[in-house]
Amino acid sequence: MPLPENMPYNQTQTFFHKPVVKLECRHCMNILCWRGMRAILLADTSIELYSTDLPPPNAVEMSGDDYCTSNCACHIRDSVCARCGNQVGYHVTLPCRNCMDSCNNGHFWMFHAVECKEVERMDDSGQKHLIWGKLPPTHEDLQKLKEKLSKNRSIFPLYPVECIR
Ligand SMILES: [Zn+2]
Ligand SMILES: [Zn+2]
Repeated sequence: MPLPENMPYNQTQTFFHKPVVKLECRHCMNILCWRGMRAILLADTSIELYSTDLPPPNAVEMSGDDYCTSNCACHIRDSVCARCGNQVGYHVTLPCRNCMDSCNNGHFWMFHAVECKEVERMDDSGQKHLIWGKLPPTHEDLQKLKEKLSKNRSIFPLYPVECIR
């Protein structure tokens, strides 16, 4: 499991000041994540990742079976973009004791930095970058996202076109 970038142990303050990012699939631009955090893999700090607590519904799908890596005993499973099917990250299905004891930010969904494009998320005013300390809880955020998507539909309605003869 990853450690948020630059986050010292037991110092979650840094975590609250980290920017919230949206992630797009690099292959098809599908939105994979609305609440991502830049992170590094604890076992190999040269590997850049993003993590999230919950991807939006229907953004990613699980692929194949659980497996373990040589890093630790976490059970993980690959995740693929729900639109184009490219592998974009993995989900920790069963965290190992070591990771739970030492280094977790509560995020069980990871995205490989090379597979996605990061877009900084703005706050409600649209002026400032949103940070994790200001991010609403997951269920509120998802509700907001749903409202936003349904609003978008009413901003761009498909009017029936009259045929002119
Ligand atoms: Zn682990
Ligand atoms: Zn895709």
